[in-house]
Amino acid sequence: MDALPDELQQAVDEHERAVAGALRGPNLEFVISKGKRWTRGQTVVVAFRGGSDELYGRIAATASEWMRHGNIRLEFKDPQTSAFYQWSLADRGFTTQIRVSFDQTGYWSLIGTDSVNAAITRSGTASMNFGGFAQRLPQDWSATVLHEFGHALGFQHEHQHPTGVCEAEFRWVLVPE
Ligand SMILES: [Zn+2]
Repeated sequence: MDALPDELQQAVDEHERAVAGALRGPNLEFVISKGKRWTRGQTVVVAFRGGSDELYGRIAATASEWMRHGNIRLEFKDPQTSAFYQWSLADRGFTTQIRVSFDQTGYWSLIGTDSVNAAITRSGTASMNFGGFAQRLPQDWSATVLHEFGHALGFQHEHQHPTGVCEAEFRWVLVPE
């Protein structure tokens, strides 16, 4: 067994809960999945497919909130061209880490580095989806964006039973433990 002593584990849990609480408010708790975390200080490239620059800008501004709390850098625009990154179905080699689409059903995201794990997914496929956002933003769009980017940064729901908050939106089947 490589379990931490109870007291230490409790401290870790409390810390993670506090971080998640600060990020997401008191009602939704996340647990971070240690094996799925990005490297500290890593630049994670976020690319879009479909939608408009205006939509990308709103998503980027909202998701960037995570950078105030975590030691991670989300990069939405190519510094060479100042254009938002786009991904395509023809992409190979995981050149972009978070691949956002708007044309699938529901709101969901792969967890952390699962989005660049060839055992789980492929380049040229979405790792995060905001269904319908390109047509019309729902009233709670910004909370949804923060929530899904939390998953993309490695947070999972604390309670993953079938009545969990995010069950309907999430592709559990793609996240083997
Ligand atoms: Zn969720």
